[in-house]
Amino acid sequence: MNIVYQPFALKEMWKAQKRIRSIVEETPLVYSDALSRRLNKQVYLKLEQTHPTGSFKIRGAANKLLSLSESDRKKGVTTFSTGNHGISVAYVAEQLGMTCVVCLSDRVPKEKLNRLKRLGARVEIVGQNQDDAEAYCYQLAKEEGLTIVKPFDDADIIAGQGTIGLEIMQQCPDVQHVIIPLSGGGLLSGIGYILKSIDPNIKITGVSPQRSAVMYESLKKGQPIEMKEEHTLADSLLGGIGIDNRYTFPMTKAYMDQGRKVSERSIRDGVLFMLEYHKMAVEGAAGAGVGLLLEEKEKCDDPVIIVISGNNIDHETISELVVEPVR
Ligand SMILES: *Cc1c(COP(=O)(O)O)cnc(C)c1O
Repeated sequence: MNIVYQPFALKEMWKAQKRIRSIVEETPLVYSDALSRRLNKQVYLKLEQTHPTGSFKIRGAANKLLSLSESDRKKGVTTFSTGNHGISVAYVAEQLGMTCVVCLSDRVPKEKLNRLKRLGARVEIVGQNQDDAEAYCYQLAKEEGLTIVKPFDDADIIAGQGTIGLEIMQQCPDVQHVIIPLSGGGLLSGIGYILKSIDPNIKITGVSPQRSAVMYESLKKGQPIEMKEEHTLADSLLGGIGIDNRYTFPMTKAYMDQGRKVSERSIRDGVLFMLEYHKMAVEGAAGAGVGLLLEEKEKCDDPVIIVISGNNIDHETISELVVEPVR
């Protein structure tokens, strides 16, 4: 028997699935006629942008908040994410009637700030960068007894994201290959753990932007590293993996068959392909997987599934992209 790396019990996936059912709906898996024709393979899309928060991060957030003890729930939660994680934590907290404090720096755009406020979060503006906001988040957690909800390196978060893997097995039991956007690795760790446990032959590809491939470079070095990052269209894939990474580094190492880096050009092609052929607005992180497949036509096994991870893209960004035609 081939036993895959098990950092926590596999049954946590099914427990998470049951726990989050009241808040998180199953997402559709759709056949992509356009990509299937172009590649001459069976290509499916797992539509995680259809959640009310616009990304899969609602799964991990729901599992984490619903796993807290009664007394911790009463005290509330805090996070320092400006992106999809922050939005999802705020949304779930509001659904559960919990206090949620989001710590942000004064650099965060008004639009993002207002979205968090609309979700009922208490927003604390501190310092000039994310590190200041993070430090304040830890301080606040101590002072007010709040639970810090980490974006990826947490077993409950990973199990929440892993529920995508359970749905994939039910929706496409013949799946041979899954393409997953990769940043901190919570998404890939969750899906990889469940799929590799069911069938180690299912191929897992992680896709990162050339400009922000911290997990990719860390795996190459054999340990978590810190890197300077550049702006990328796939902004949800920015951020480090944590020097003291506990779960997602070893899990990504164990389950990912290949890591791929994609250019800004490919990310853009992916976003535009989704817009043009599927009439769906998706963000750069989600476009990265589509862009990779458009690049690497022959190399994938099929049926192949691309995880369309989110849609947090604004119309200015889209209008900047569409000035050039789709390849
Ligand atoms: C967070 C995020 C990812 C990456 O997930 P990790 O668990 O950090 O690897 C991919 N796509 C979107 C839209 C995200 O918000």
